[in-house]
Amino acid sequence: MADEPRVIGEGRAYRATSAPKWRGDLLEYPADLERVNPMDYKALSAALANVELTREGIAGFVTKYGFLEIGASEGKGETFAKWREEVTLLRIVWRRLHGRPQAEGEEFVLKPREPRVDGRTAYYYDVLGYSGGVTVPDGPIRDRRALERVLARIISEHTIQLVGAQVDMSTSYPNVIFVPLNLLGAAWLQMAYDLASSELPDYRRCPECGDFYHPVRTRQRTCGKSKCRAAMYERRRDRARELSDEGMTPAKVAAAMSSELGENVTERQVEDWVAASRRRRKSGKAV
Ligand SMILES: [Zn+2]
Repeated sequence: MADEPRVIGEGRAYRATSAPKWRGDLLEYPADLERVNPMDYKALSAALANVELTREGIAGFVTKYGFLEIGASEGKGETFAKWREEVTLLRIVWRRLHGRPQAEGEEFVLKPREPRVDGRTAYYYDVLGYSGGVTVPDGPIRDRRALERVLARIISEHTIQLVGAQVDMSTSYPNVIFVPLNLLGAAWLQMAYDLASSELPDYRRCPECGDFYHPVRTRQRTCGKSKCRAAMYERRRDRARELSDEGMTPAKVAAAMSSELGENVTERQVEDWVAASRRRRKSGKAV
């Protein structure tokens, strides 16, 4: 595994191609592993931050995305304790970064310390033992600035160990690019990019398959897999037919569905959906 040629810009992670086995506290690296580029997962940090910390949850994650550390280091496997430790910190930082509610028991301490000096405020922070101080200029957004500094510090402590750099000569000018050493590094690198971006990506969970995705368009409602998009439209068509069967006019259905979906649904669409749903039910019954 150590001597595979490196493709420029491609981090390395390994995904289990069949369900991996827990041996006691250890999730063993199986013999059949598929190499993946963790940067291809555009919502990796969201998926890892929200992984269910159970044996099944972790096994499902490594089958879909990959193991945390294999790539940079090799061993027999990864322990449950390691997963809990790494995911808990990542989750706390991810939630704070993306303004999601903090879970119970996931302490993120960030407090201003008096007195102020020279128009600046000092803050104390403690996140699972990562503790220290940051100083920011006074002003209406000082809390936000202090938070960003703390997040930057914790993220950097990880990227400095888990991310390398390469010189890309494939473009007209040489270009330095970051390359995660493993999947965990890719998740922290993604959070570094998110923190540094002018607009935070709005990671969403697909209502059909449960996967996190990074919407390319603001109106995107599913992860983008064609089966999920098809399932969503089928649900819409059935909903339109249900309301229509209750005796609502197409205009009323359109209004009701516009508010349910948070997007503009026209009468014409409703008529098409109702007809499609009826056709489908008829053909379903005939089989
Ligand atoms: Zn989906």
